[in-house]
Amino acid sequence: MDHTSNKLKKEDEKIEIGETKPGINLQGYCTNVDCLAAKAKLPVWVNLGFGDISFNSDKTSYRCPDCGHFTVTSIIKAMIFNSEHSICASDNSIPVKDNHYQCFYVIKQGLAYELKAKKIRQHATNLEDLIDRSESAMMSNEILNLVAELQKYLITVVKPPKVKDKVRLLEKIQCDYSGDFNQVFDIGRFTILCDNPTKLQTAVAVMKKAEQFNLIVSEDKDFFERQSKTHHRFHNIKLYVPKHDVYVEMQATLKNFTTLEGYTIIENPKLSHLFYEHIRAWKPNNSEEEDLKQAGDETLTKINDIICEWIDDKGIQKIANRYKSHLDIGILKPPQLSKKTEIEINASVSLKMAQFVYEQLCKFTPEKMKGKAIYVILYEYYKKYLIGDKNPASCADFASLLQESRKQEIEEDIAILHALETYIPLQANNYPHLDGDDNKHDTYDCYQRVFQFLQEEKEEEDGEKKNEQIQQFHKKK
Ligand SMILES: [Zn+2]
Repeated sequence: MDHTSNKLKKEDEKIEIGETKPGINLQGYCTNVDCLAAKAKLPVWVNLGFGDISFNSDKTSYRCPDCGHFTVTSIIKAMIFNSEHSICASDNSIPVKDNHYQCFYVIKQGLAYELKAKKIRQHATNLEDLIDRSESAMMSNEILNLVAELQKYLITVVKPPKVKDKVRLLEKIQCDYSGDFNQVFDIGRFTILCDNPTKLQTAVAVMKKAEQFNLIVSEDKDFFERQSKTHHRFHNIKLYVPKHDVYVEMQATLKNFTTLEGYTIIENPKLSHLFYEHIRAWKPNNSEEEDLKQAGDETLTKINDIICEWIDDKGIQKIANRYKSHLDIGILKPPQLSKKTEIEINASVSLKMAQFVYEQLCKFTPEKMKGKAIYVILYEYYKKYLIGDKNPASCADFASLLQESRKQEIEEDIAILHALETYIPLQANNYPHLDGDDNKHDTYDCYQRVFQFLQEEKEEEDGEKKNEQIQQFHKKK
């Protein structure tokens, strides 16, 4: 009997060196004798990004990601990621044009190749056109079928109620994309909300099989495992709808992380977005504003770290423990706002920011852990950057500053200090004092006696309370 053929087959572990990135990636072999990857005959990935390239498959000189030398001399595979691209070879094969998010091509030995890869862009002729296409796509059977499929698995799909208001959209296009409307993808953006990370994984996998719905997944950005710049945590997929020649965005995240009105469990969910809106279009005029913007960016990141749980429960709780309500500490209005008119405030981003944060701190009264932690982060930003570390940001700060200066005054006042040193405690006895009767020794410090007495009383009280609680506990049982 042949034992070897019956054996369960082990899967070969695929070993590749280097990682793939958006744009063109070529896999080949390094020939540097001092390169470890070359010695082990392991294929390496070379990232070339977006652009046009041409090469002869066995006469290349690309940079090896391992040894850093330009010694990758032959290519065996191409992978084009998150890109509209084309590829053609010098044999009789038909050139390919594609925009699927991840395409692998075998590169044959001895052939010449030409590759073109562009970042995904819309194909509209103007903003109106883009809005029309997006709206048609969102109502198309292709998209509706995909949405229905996701909903079958109890995944929440939220369709934006209407297209964003045009003024804001134009401002955003101007500011973020220097007027290039074909870089806008969130005109019709679906939000997909899942109960847990596994459901999210399923939702993403279903979307990636969008070909069965006549849709093409053209871009896949995983900001769920990897942090985005703003630390918003989501999986972003761009779906191409061929019928309307437009891309529609699907953003998948967990129900716990969303700040979407009507779906969120975060307290004061608009806070992070409003904060973002304040700093988004801000072009600082001086180094002071530069610092303030930088601190604002960091604060927003920290708020998102709490909302999207980049910080774990324990860490969030630790921050939340520092929470003190406005009602307890009395936040003070920023002095820079005093005697300023609404017009003056609106003309300055830093004044607007000071007003916004002050108002938020006064009206936001969080009850849950995340809410409290967010409040703490916002207050700390307020205290450090909008008020200034040395100035009081609340009545409580003011009181402790007074306390501090009183202490300092006493320390500086030699007369008082001297008086304290020679201070004779008030003494008392349990019997009336008679002149010339100095021999009795049970005299005690009057203050200490009162303190002791009060302490005992309190302990007794606490003891009684405890007893009551124990009795109640037993009754319940
Ligand atoms: Zn190498």
